[in-house]
Amino acid sequence: MWCYRYLFISLLFSACLEKPVSQLTAKKNTAQSKVESVVKIDSSFKKPKNVIFLIGDGMGLSEVSASLFYQDQVSNFERFSTIGLIKTSSSSELVTDSAAGATAFASGVKTYNGAIGVDQDSIWVGTIIEHLEKNDFSTGLISTSSITHATPACFYAHTKSRKNYEDIALFLCSSNIDFFAGGGLKFFNDRNDGKNLFDTLKSNDYDLHTEKLPETISEKKQAILLANNSMPKMLEGRGDFLPDATKLAIEKLSNNEAGFMLVVEGSQIDWGGHDNDADYLITELLDFDKTVGVALDFALQNGETLVLVTGDHETGGFTLAAEKNDYNIIVPKFATGRHSATMIPVFAQGPGASVFGSIYENTDIYHKLMALLKQ
Ligand code: MG
Ligand code: ZN
Repeated sequence: MWCYRYLFISLLFSACLEKPVSQLTAKKNTAQSKVESVVKIDSSFKKPKNVIFLIGDGMGLSEVSASLFYQDQVSNFERFSTIGLIKTSSSSELVTDSAAGATAFASGVKTYNGAIGVDQDSIWVGTIIEHLEKNDFSTGLISTSSITHATPACFYAHTKSRKNYEDIALFLCSSNIDFFAGGGLKFFNDRNDGKNLFDTLKSNDYDLHTEKLPETISEKKQAILLANNSMPKMLEGRGDFLPDATKLAIEKLSNNEAGFMLVVEGSQIDWGGHDNDADYLITELLDFDKTVGVALDFALQNGETLVLVTGDHETGGFTLAAEKNDYNIIVPKFATGRHSATMIPVFAQGPGASVFGSIYENTDIYHKLMALLKQ
C-alpha cells in the first residue's frame, strides 16, 4: 500500500516537473493593416519635421523591463506618451529574423528571413531612407554591429542574403547617407574582390574616420568605421560610442532645414539573448536606454522631432523570473537561444506620436512614417 502511495506521489511530482509541451499548433493570423487610418491624417494634424528611429535588436518587453531594475536613474522608456505593439512574423516564418524585420521597417513589405531590402520574390523594394533623400532630407545610420549587418543594411542595400556583406558595403558607398557610424572595416578594406572601398568612400565625398569617433561634425558626409567587424561589447569597454555617435549625428543632420531621419540600432541586445547571457543583454539594453535619452532630450528642445523606439523581434525568451523562494530577488532566465514570436512594444514621442498606439504589423511602422513625412 505504502509502495503504491509512494509511486503515485512520485509520478505526480515528476509530472509537475516535466516541461509542458503544447498540443496546439501556432499559425499566422494577419489582421487588416491599419495603414488606411493613418493615410487619412487631416491637414491640421501636426507632422514631424525630423524622425529619430531607434531599434533595439532582440528587444522585447522583458528586455525593456530590465531598464527598470538594473540602473539607479529612471528609465528613458518611461518618458514616452504613446505605446503600441507590433506583430513581427515574416512572410516565410512565424518567427522573424533581423533581415526580414528591418526590411519591414525600412520598406513596408513582409519578406523572407534573410532578405535585405528585397521582397519575397527577391525584387528590390525602395527604402524610407532612399525616399527621403530624394526629398532633400539628411539621413544617418548608427549601429553597434558592423554597419553592413542585417538591421542597418536593410535601410540602404538590396540583396537576396544578409550574408552578402561585401555587396552590402558597396551599396553603402554609393548611398547618399550623410552620417554613418559602426563596425565593419574589413568589408571595406580587406575584401575578397580586392577592392579598397576607402577610396570609393573618399571619392563619394565622405570624410572617413577609422580611429575614434570625431569630436566635431564636418561639412562633408561622415563615414565612421571603428571596428573590424562588430563594435566591442559594453562588457568589453565600448563606453559611450552609441549615445555619443547619436549626439554627433543629431548635431550634423539637424542643420538641414528640410528635415532629417536618423536610424540608430542597439545591435547587441540580440546577441546577449542568443548567448543566454543576462549581463551581456542588460548592459547593452542600458546603453540603448541612455541613447534613447539623448534622442528624447534633443526632441524635447527641438519640438519638431518624432522619436520612435521599437525592436525587430524578441531574442532568448528572456524573462525577469522570481527566485524560487524569494519574490524579492530577480533571476533573469532564458527560454531559447533563438528568437521568439512575442509582440514587441513601440514607444513614440513628439509630433505624430499618437498614430503609433494600438496593435499592428511591423510593416506599418514604414507606412505610418511615410504618411507622416509626406511633403
Ligand atoms: Mg541587428
Ligand atoms: Zn538574432
